[in-house]
Amino acid sequence: MVSFVILAFDLVVGTAWHEVVGHGLTAVAFGARITYVEVMGFEWFPHIRWVGATGYFGRCYNSGIEGDAATALVFLGGSMSTWLVGVVAVCLLYLRHWHGWMRVFIIALSVWWLDLLLYTLPSLGIPRFFFWGHRYSEPYQAAVAYGVPGPLFQVFVIVTSAFLAVATGRQIHRAIMQPVFRHS
Ligand SMILES: [Zn+2]
Repeated sequence: MVSFVILAFDLVVGTAWHEVVGHGLTAVAFGARITYVEVMGFEWFPHIRWVGATGYFGRCYNSGIEGDAATALVFLGGSMSTWLVGVVAVCLLYLRHWHGWMRVFIIALSVWWLDLLLYTLPSLGIPRFFFWGHRYSEPYQAAVAYGVPGPLFQVFVIVTSAFLAVATGRQIHRAIMQPVFRHS
């Protein structure tokens, strides 16, 4: 039950964060305007309505971005924003001992680095979800467009993901071993 809540939360809130904070706010930082936001089959801006499955978890359009470098950073911002949340959450888990729903919440955030890893897989010739999913790598294409050497970006993603996987794995293991909802 708790794991289902976490999965739903990560998919919906994680996608929203990727789109709105990652792409959207990066675009706004470059002086653009957000013109359209879609998350999980719903359009949220400028209107709120069901648009159905479009083949995307979410989309965020903007207008007014100038220059190839800025455009690349807006694309890179999506998965880097979720990766950053994951890194901060993992640090929080190691900095102090959290209880109850706060702990569940931070653990749920701590796996957000998966977005960058999965979205980078297509650049290695692997579908986004190993066996299915598209073969377009948004963060990789964006990093290369920005001027980062492709292999360097792949190594960065794989090495940081390996560390984060061990760190979150240990935290999740610990949370399962000791009841999270314990009065102490
Ligand atoms: Zn994206």
